[in-house]
Amino acid sequence: MPSRRRSERRAPIGPLPRLGHDELLRLYEELKAEHKRHLEAKGVWLPPFTGRDGIYHQTALALIGLYSRKGLPVTKPELEAFVRMYKDGAGDVQDGRHLSAQHGWRVLSSHRGDFGTEDWPKSSYGLISTSECHPGFRRQQESELTDNEWISIKANFGNCCSLCGSKEGEPNLRAPAAMTELQKGHRDPSKSLTSSNCLPQCQECNRTLQNRFIFDDRGRPKGIALPEVILQSPIDVQKEVLRILKAQFE
Ligand SMILES: [Zn+2]
Repeated sequence: MPSRRRSERRAPIGPLPRLGHDELLRLYEELKAEHKRHLEAKGVWLPPFTGRDGIYHQTALALIGLYSRKGLPVTKPELEAFVRMYKDGAGDVQDGRHLSAQHGWRVLSSHRGDFGTEDWPKSSYGLISTSECHPGFRRQQESELTDNEWISIKANFGNCCSLCGSKEGEPNLRAPAAMTELQKGHRDPSKSLTSSNCLPQCQECNRTLQNRFIFDDRGRPKGIALPEVILQSPIDVQKEVLRILKAQFE
């Protein structure tokens, strides 16, 4: 079946309804049981139901909101509105994004162009499974990188992003309104963040490319870390990849 074009995205489903405390807790307990059974051993993080202040934890609210509409997309404004029902003045709600690659939940993002979200509304997230973790997620291992190593890695790159060259503390070349912050990018996202596996990446490059590619020691992409990336290649390249992989594995 041909994939739908961007203009054929589904309309948003509508706001998430406000849930009472008992209902929030019931959904959280279900998530907790699923997490215990399938996800804990894989290193997926379950946010606490409430924080130390006794108030609902923002990430838990986002997770419950997505779970209440499991398998279907929730737009970022819908998710924000849901979180703000319980947390007045919650700022920019990035939890939909963080829940996936960072915390490991199988949350797809249409903004990131995840496979399976082609007809979802713009900027939407969806929790599609509570038994499998996100494909881009690797258990966070102890960072073996010391502060001094990080300083010297940045210095090796002139305190610039290894991908776009934006200099730390100066306007970002990809988003000039923002100042460049250098973040610890992985050379190979399947391996832990040691000094030999770390590259400085600005916030823009790190956000866009994180977990997608494998880089050489100068930060040049040399391989794919997320299989879906191949679907963004020209169709002739995809067919050639299919041919090569068949020859390799059959
Ligand atoms: Zn950059």
